[in-house]
Amino acid sequence: MFDNFKIMWHQGKQFIPNVTTAKVPGIFRGRPIITRAKIDEAILVGLCPVKAISSNPVCIDLGKCTFCGECAIQFPDKISFTTDYKLSSNERDRLIIKEGDEAPIIVNPDTIRKEIHRLFGGSLKLRQVSAGGDNSCEWELNSSNNVQFDVSRFGVDFVASPRHADGIVITGPITENMAESVERCYNAVPNPKVIILVGTDAISGGIFADSPALNRDFLSKHTVDLYVPGNPAHPLTFINGVLSLLQKTKI
Ligand code: SF4
Repeated sequence: MFDNFKIMWHQGKQFIPNVTTAKVPGIFRGRPIITRAKIDEAILVGLCPVKAISSNPVCIDLGKCTFCGECAIQFPDKISFTTDYKLSSNERDRLIIKEGDEAPIIVNPDTIRKEIHRLFGGSLKLRQVSAGGDNSCEWELNSSNNVQFDVSRFGVDFVASPRHADGIVITGPITENMAESVERCYNAVPNPKVIILVGTDAISGGIFADSPALNRDFLSKHTVDLYVPGNPAHPLTFINGVLSLLQKTKI
């Protein structure tokens, strides 16, 4: 008995008590800040491997960014990455960070579908579909349910069957081979249902965006409820995004 208490005392709390204020290590690249420093914008735009940077004014699209950090390394006076992991939004445009913009990225409560909070505010069951993913975002989603992040304490769980789900979480760029499976999985989820895209590949195709091996028609047919950027997305980005979507104020 005494030994057990000793172990508990040494280990401390295994879980993160407050997922909205938790700190992450400094090496994590979260929301970027773009200053108004004058630079050669053509060089900056040209160095991004996924065309996530645009100029005049300089903007970074977090739906395309792989968070490689190259822009911040080459232009440290212009771009820096904070450790802010709250990157999710229900509006695609909010993932585009502009020069001089330091405001946090939010899920806009005015544009969340009304039935989401009403029906899923207490419990949200999700079916994950890896649509040509590289297992990195899938791994992080798995982590969101481990003892540290413990997303199920908020009533959010992953389920094995789409018949038992309230929505789907898509990772990967949606390859031609997986396009039909994504559609069939979505169709198997009872109405009403939500769609969440996790990771750069799912949001924009990422480094595969121009590949003929992709078929992203699914996204032009259906409304996406939440975009969760990251490459891969951090569990706290996913958890905070979902909690905001569900308008959970009590954490
Ligand atoms: S960190 Fe993002 S915006 Fe910067 S170069 Fe890499 S992919 Fe492009």
